Amino acid sequence: MAGPSIFSRIVAGEIPCHRIYETDHVLAFLDINPLAEGHALVIPKRPVERLDELTPDEAAELGRAVREVAVRVMRVVGAPAYNVLQNNGSLAGQEVPHVHFHIIPRREGDGLGYRWRPQKVAPEVLAALAARIAGT
Ligand code: 5GP
Repeated sequence: MAGPSIFSRIVAGEIPCHRIYETDHVLAFLDINPLAEGHALVIPKRPVERLDELTPDEAAELGRAVREVAVRVMRVVGAPAYNVLQNNGSLAGQEVPHVHFHIIPRREGDGLGYRWRPQKVAPEVLAALAARIAGT
């Protein structure tokens, strides 16, 4: 569980944001330093650091909101594609310790990358790992 972050202060109305969507438990607003026009953040109002700390119901409501905000942003900015990005933990690039989904519209030649370096793994290694995860 996170302590109050900058996003809790936004939820509380203590600092301003450009609000684009809101429900009882979810808020969406424009990123202050956008990677593209329409770059939006969708957050739960409850101050939780990581996705896995949400209750299943909270995660479901957040997921519905991510879709809804993506529809609205894309309708307005008219980009042909978008990324949804969600970082958990500073090692994964999370800077604000409050769950947030980025919605990032993408255009031809926008210069934003996304490809990481994939590993080659033997099929039996994948099979063993899948069995362990599926069995939990
Ligand atoms: P992270 O790296 O944690 O996944 O992303 C944090 C995002 O929050 C960044 O894209 C950053 O620009 C955005 N951000 C940080 N502080 C504020 C703020 O006060 N207001 C808004 N609207 N966005 C913020």
